[in-house]
Amino acid sequence: MQTLINNLKDNNLKVTPQRLIIYSYLYNNHIHPSAEIIYNNIKKQNPTISLATVYKTLKSLKDSGLIREINVGEDSFRYDAQVKPHIHIICKSCNKIIDYFPNEDFINKIQDEISNNTNCEIEQNQMYFYGLCDECCKKEPIF
Ligand SMILES: [Zn+2]
Ligand SMILES: [Zn+2]
Repeated sequence: MQTLINNLKDNNLKVTPQRLIIYSYLYNNHIHPSAEIIYNNIKKQNPTISLATVYKTLKSLKDSGLIREINVGEDSFRYDAQVKPHIHIICKSCNKIIDYFPNEDFINKIQDEISNNTNCEIEQNQMYFYGLCDECCKKEPIF
């Protein structure tokens, strides 16, 4: 919990109970939840938090760079407290998002190659791979 408090302070965010609850939920649950899922999971223990507060808090955490917003083509965004560069594998059957952390060089290399060949300055990247997760692979009939 102290790490989370320090992260908030280091990013000039006032440490409020709401921020701490939502940030620690994301930090401890690597399920890339949407705002609605976060709200549904924390409201029992925190009945004073509204969905609007969850949205507002997610926005401030995102703007400060503590969490990332992921768009997987659904109606709502998903959120990730893992900010170390990584790749997302999206299961097209159960919509689960799995983190994959490649070799440190891997993402840098791609980024360098792109910026060398386009003269663009790349600031950020998001990589998605689509397929079936291990659980769905087992369920899916093989023809
Ligand atoms: Zn799956
Ligand atoms: Zn992730």
